[in-house]
Amino acid sequence: MTGLIARFSSVTNIQRHQLRVSGLVQGVGFRPFVYSLATSLGVLGWIKNTCQGVVIEVEGSTDQLHQFQQRLQRDKPLHAMIQQMEVTQLEPIGYTAFAIHHSDLSTANSDSQAQPAALILPDLATCPACLAELFDPGDRRYHYPLINCTHCGPRYSIVRSLPYDRSNTTMRSFPMCPQCQQEYDDPSDRRFHAQPTACSHCGPHLEFWNQQGQVLASHDEALQEAVAAIRQGKILAVKGLGGFHLIADATNNAAVTALRQRKHRPHKPFAVMYPSLELLRDQCHVSNEEAELLESAIAPIVLIAIKNSQQPFAIAPATNPGNPLLGVMLPYTPLHHLLLRELGHPIIATSGNLSGAPLCFDNQDALDKLGNIADGFLVHNRPIEQPVDDSIVRFVTLATGENQPMILRRARG
Ligand SMILES: [Zn+2]
Ligand SMILES: [Zn+2]
Repeated sequence: MTGLIARFSSVTNIQRHQLRVSGLVQGVGFRPFVYSLATSLGVLGWIKNTCQGVVIEVEGSTDQLHQFQQRLQRDKPLHAMIQQMEVTQLEPIGYTAFAIHHSDLSTANSDSQAQPAALILPDLATCPACLAELFDPGDRRYHYPLINCTHCGPRYSIVRSLPYDRSNTTMRSFPMCPQCQQEYDDPSDRRFHAQPTACSHCGPHLEFWNQQGQVLASHDEALQEAVAAIRQGKILAVKGLGGFHLIADATNNAAVTALRQRKHRPHKPFAVMYPSLELLRDQCHVSNEEAELLESAIAPIVLIAIKNSQQPFAIAPATNPGNPLLGVMLPYTPLHHLLLRELGHPIIATSGNLSGAPLCFDNQDALDKLGNIADGFLVHNRPIEQPVDDSIVRFVTLATGENQPMILRRARG
């Protein structure tokens, strides 16, 4: 057999390479990318996730394999990063297709005896394609508050172990419906192997709770209840991507003052989430660099200078008493987008914790800890495994006149 293969390889100039790739290669659409690259070049073999990254085997001509490696580096997905790539030449074995194999979890494998080393991407802000679906009444995920895809949504905050597969995330308890499964299995679909993918039929859902944890409404009604409560000046605990926010109408001074009193936070400025960059620009001085960062997949809080003049939807004085700078962000989860689109005005979105205590990220824990601060709770049942707070960034002008971001708190992103 070996002789046959050797003859086959010398006649056809077919070679087999094994590539061990480490870095940011899981949860970034790397396997679908490799699948389409291999298919377009006509190379055969497979790819699988391991605890260290991915392993790829490809068989093809010298030229095909050269192109494959080149384009792997050059055309990789936006959020992917290759730290290291080890290439081993092997005897060709005559693959007949290119396949995505199940992740390697075998204990007999030398990989799993090594320390897990694959990097997991941070949670990413909702991408434009998901946003369009979220507000398209004809889309099957219209108004689904946990919509996501290969390009956006939770990653780090839902990981329980490596490799990054649905069964190793907090989405393991939500079996996919046939439609979601079909998208997940289709290499040409944006949700191909998108681990947290779901829809309103099979995925987590929203609930609106009172301070005792009683469910007052669920699904879209929960959202409407929350919107009504915020409009009435209530303070809500809202479960986001990596933890809870305490939310109140940022244009309502009584609501913001109440939040200060209940949170025992007399002066420190609150972060504000704006419904849109346009409204933010009406009220604050936003440079192009700041706008770009606010709208990026990282979507941090950016400290910016507030304009003096009174504007419609001006933020309440209690938000940042005596401070010319305001910490602002744009909606970065589908739930934020839904809330802010309904409200149409900025909201306070401050970390959901007691002063000095860690961020609340579990529903029951939030109820216990924030019950004296929040009038109501807007929650969903996708568990958060790793809490992640919002990052805070401020741009500083260098002597060269160049604006450079300075990270004041590194968390999400
Ligand atoms: Zn998306
Ligand atoms: Zn589904």
